[in-house]
Amino acid sequence: MNIEEIARKHALINAVKFDGKADFKAVIGKVMAEVRANAKEVIPVIKKEVEEVNKLTLQEQHEEMERLGIVIEEKEKKEKGLPPLPHAEKGKVVTRFPPEPNGYLHIGHAKAAIVDYEYARMYDGTFILRFDDTNPANEAKEFYDAQKEDLKWLGVEWDREYRTSDNLPVHYELAEKMVRDGNAYVCTCSSEETSKNRRTGKECKCRNSMTMEKWKEFFSMEAGSAVLRLKGDMKSENSAMRDPTLFRIIDEPHPVHGKKYRVWPTYDFYGAVEDSLSGVTHPFRTKEYELRDEVYFYILDCLGLRKPHLMEFARLSIEGMPVSKRKIKPLIEEGLVEGWDDPRLPTLRGLKRRGILPEAIHKFVITQGFSRVESVVTFDQVEAPNRKILDSIARRYFFVAEPVKMVVKNAPEKEVELRHHPSENIGSRKVKTSGTFFISGDDAEELKEGEVFRLKDLYNVKVVSKGNFIEGKFSGNDIIENAKKIQWVTDEHVEMEVLIPGNLFIGEKFNENSLKIVKGYAEPAIKNVNHGEIVQFERFGFVRIEKDEKIKGIMAHK
Ligand code: ATP
Ligand code: MG
Repeated sequence: MNIEEIARKHALINAVKFDGKADFKAVIGKVMAEVRANAKEVIPVIKKEVEEVNKLTLQEQHEEMERLGIVIEEKEKKEKGLPPLPHAEKGKVVTRFPPEPNGYLHIGHAKAAIVDYEYARMYDGTFILRFDDTNPANEAKEFYDAQKEDLKWLGVEWDREYRTSDNLPVHYELAEKMVRDGNAYVCTCSSEETSKNRRTGKECKCRNSMTMEKWKEFFSMEAGSAVLRLKGDMKSENSAMRDPTLFRIIDEPHPVHGKKYRVWPTYDFYGAVEDSLSGVTHPFRTKEYELRDEVYFYILDCLGLRKPHLMEFARLSIEGMPVSKRKIKPLIEEGLVEGWDDPRLPTLRGLKRRGILPEAIHKFVITQGFSRVESVVTFDQVEAPNRKILDSIARRYFFVAEPVKMVVKNAPEKEVELRHHPSENIGSRKVKTSGTFFISGDDAEELKEGEVFRLKDLYNVKVVSKGNFIEGKFSGNDIIENAKKIQWVTDEHVEMEVLIPGNLFIGEKFNENSLKIVKGYAEPAIKNVNHGEIVQFERFGFVRIEKDEKIKGIMAHK
């Protein structure tokens, strides 16, 4: 193909992927990846082809592709996972991911961050990482960096980063404007009284006696004795509109600002204000905030600020897993799990230890899409893409769980080279064998006296007798059809444990047996594996290897 043809091909592919309009920049990228040529010469050609293709209808583009025999590869089709954004313009989309630095990120955050990040990329837009650190009672310094580290591990990159707490002076100005305009008031009613009034739709005396003096005094009032509330509608059908709290007093020192501020905005206030002021066009929120959307727009109206296109998706829930910092924290505090990186947890650190790859999390999130329907998925939907990736890249080893000894009579002394993968070129290891082996307890149990089976990649053995150990007899080298193939290790092996993480909850109840430990022997080559490498123990599962004082495995999945 000449350059014109290649440019035409990619212009067509890109056009049909994006509703008939090819993106010049995206096509340049694809063409340059395929041809080795001077950009100066190629770009005018690409420009011409993109313009021509964009004049065609989507139907004509499809027809031309068919005529030229261009097929979109499966991989490229999948990239289309996320549906187009409403009101989106190339180059102008701004998204943000707003974690609160009060814990480590989990797979629910990954869903939000990936959706935000992918949309910004899809539209050549901007992706902002914003730390919503406005509740000093909950937050800690360590989590800002930890969350950034986890996002980097996930492969999510941001264009801009800032802290909401740095904008507090602006928030105070805007709040003052609301007070001045009669849209907010300092309320000193008790929380019981306020709840009752919200239920009965009654306005309190504070609402109609607000002054600028009271606003000034607010800053030196005692924590818990007053809040700033929106003057909404105490009789609104939407309970969120019944004068929600906009600011409250918190005395705990802030991890960044120390004791500089005591008056802190609530999510209703800073969420709306920050999205608007930072230029976010498409803020995503989980569906639980639906009722608060009216508050969001009402506040922006009061302040005369630009209104973004609020987007919603369902919160991610996984059966048997606590996908929420609020649920994870107590498990750690009560010592029910080891810490934030316990492999049973859906934290990114837990998933990493368990051998889940960031690419698999992306695949999972994109294929989940983001239906607004709340649903609970099972963890095997994360495992499936992970297994698919690992299958061709993980080195394979022999590991025998609950080992049983086997002595083979007349066994030839051998040195065999075993490949780490049957079809991929990812190396091999040499193993010397004599007459002593260990096989897994399960395999041993199934063998019958007189049965002939194959020690995998070695030779055949006939079972002579079964007792405290298995006695076998060398039975030839030729492969016997339908004979069992069994993994083995020799008397030179590495004793190790494999942790098997299971569901932390059964229904609402904590599962006392959520972490199982399997003891077994691995072949000695396991000592050469790097800390953190994920291998496949044949017929056992994919296991991430940790090398601390001892070598240990954590099972990702079968
Ligand atoms: P948590 O209960 O885990 O603390 P949160 O929503 O309070 O959840 P934040 O740090 O405030 O945690 O959330 C940052 C972003 O991540 C928000 O936009 C939130 O909607 C999103 N998010 C958090 N948990 C999930 C989840 N389970 N599924 C999808 N998105 C989530
Ligand atoms: Mg939160």
